[in-house]
Amino acid sequence: MEHVSVPPLSRVAVCGGTHGNEMSGVYIVREMQRQKLEKAESVSITTVLSNPRAVEACRRYIETDLNRCFTDALLSTPITDSTSYELRRAQELNAQLGPKGSEEAVDLLLDLHNTTANMGLSFIFYSLDWITLHIYKYIQTKLTSMPVRVIQLDIPISEAYSLESVGKHGFAIEVGPQPTGVLRADIFNAMKEALDLTIEWLQKFNSGITFGGGEVEAYVLVKSVDYPRDPMTGELTAAIHPQLQDNDFKLLRPGDPIFQSFSGETVKHEGEELYPFFINECAYYEKKVAFHLARKVTLTFPSINVKRD
Ligand SMILES: [Zn+2]
Repeated sequence: MEHVSVPPLSRVAVCGGTHGNEMSGVYIVREMQRQKLEKAESVSITTVLSNPRAVEACRRYIETDLNRCFTDALLSTPITDSTSYELRRAQELNAQLGPKGSEEAVDLLLDLHNTTANMGLSFIFYSLDWITLHIYKYIQTKLTSMPVRVIQLDIPISEAYSLESVGKHGFAIEVGPQPTGVLRADIFNAMKEALDLTIEWLQKFNSGITFGGGEVEAYVLVKSVDYPRDPMTGELTAAIHPQLQDNDFKLLRPGDPIFQSFSGETVKHEGEELYPFFINECAYYEKKVAFHLARKVTLTFPSINVKRD
């Protein structure tokens, strides 16, 4: 693969509280603001508490999920009296950190999330981005306290709905398991370490170091699976099977149990072998998602260095 040169990555946004009850990002951002951490050598850092009203209420959101508001269509929707708080906030954040797709957008946007699923530390990103893959590789080789993986949501950037799509480059760091509204030091530490390593990588990159190319294993979202429900009421009729619970990223084969009905029957996985993740994520009950399924792929990326004028 050919070598790639990219302009300096000097303006970084670190966002937490995009979901108001995911506590690691909320407290990391608050701590950075308390320490007035606005510059690290060549990197200027903007810290943002994305959804302050939801953080105040310790809820995921007030009216609608902020992290589904960043599509081009929603960002250009005119504000009216009936516009939700979160869509207003999305347009404010787009003005502050973007605008999405423009030259003025921050060079890298990092959004900090927690999951109730047993996923360890995951990078989540959209279409192929060499910067994200290089940072991921760097963190994966240095962070040892929990598994580190990368998940690609193959969505065009105009339809990308989450906050990190506003930056020129961007990814979400998702760490779990951690219940909503709860702070765990082990989860906090892993997220903080990933953030510090990201900034360390950016400093090295901006200083002119060349990072070699290579390859990484990534999980690409294939589909989502809903809970079995009563067709009349929509109520659940089964829970995640004990053998699937907490086994995120463990290969699911046809015939493996996925749900246990309340009358004691086992529902089995059908179709191709895939990798489950976000198993029993608390926030996804309302989205009718019991877990996602991914295919494992190998992504190859080129060597990279900073482009000087
Ligand atoms: Zn979240």
